[in-house]
Amino acid sequence: MAIHSQMQLSFGVRRTFAGEAHWVTHLLDTPITIMDEPHHEIGIQHYAFDSSLAPAGKTALVVFIRSDYAYWQRIYGRRLYDSEQRQVSGIVLELLDAWHPGIRDDIEFVDEATPLSYERYTGNWQGASCGWLLTKDTLPLMIKGIPKRLPGLEKFYMVGQWTEPGGSVPIVAMSGRNMIQEICHEDYRPFVATTPL
Ligand SMILES: Cc1cc2nc3c(=O)[nH]c(=O)nc-3n(C[C@H](O)[C@H](O)[C@H](O)COP(=O)(O)OP(=O)(O)OC[C@H]3O[C@@H](n4cnc5c(N)ncnc54)[C@H](O)[C@@H]3O)c2cc1C
Repeated sequence: MAIHSQMQLSFGVRRTFAGEAHWVTHLLDTPITIMDEPHHEIGIQHYAFDSSLAPAGKTALVVFIRSDYAYWQRIYGRRLYDSEQRQVSGIVLELLDAWHPGIRDDIEFVDEATPLSYERYTGNWQGASCGWLLTKDTLPLMIKGIPKRLPGLEKFYMVGQWTEPGGSVPIVAMSGRNMIQEICHEDYRPFVATTPL
């Protein structure tokens, strides 16, 4: 099973959030229902740590919400697809405004991405963001490893988020590094790794 499909709501705000934690998870006393699914927490990330990401005095806020791929696929291409996205960002905006009073007036841009947006941009199955979900079936593969060669196809090696359970940038980088080490071994060449400065 791949990582759960999700929606991403991004808000361009005229606030910096400097000095505030990069990622805050709000535990909700009363769960909110989004696309028929109850959500008990909402995590908000801001990007004030990187001034190159927004003009001075501004930043982006990002909220990820687990969301069913099949639902979005069913309504894709219909007006409902757009209105459902706006409804979700509206619900999140209400919450943001409660946690950061007045923020509604400082929001300059709203972008909604659905699992279909992820699929369109990444080509990943059902818009998964990181490859295989870590479950009791996939966890042992972290030790055993997923085959990275194809029988009968010499000098072909696969690395990346679909060959390492869990995916993500660090694991993908490790995947490439480990494969280079194996190739060096096959070629009787020393493997040397350096850390970027
Ligand atoms: C919105 C989003 C947010 C994320 N946030 C994080 C995060 O905060 N931290 C984190 O660690 N991970 C994050 N991830 C996951 C992380 O980005 C991926 O796990 C990682 O980039 C996967 O690397 P990869 O090299 O396996 O695949 P990719 O980065 O998808 O690279 C595959 C490459 O192959 C190319 N390609 C495809 N087909 C062909 C072809 N036929 N011929 C030639 N080239 C081809 C593609 O163009 C692409 O450049 C996020 C993912 C998404 C989608």
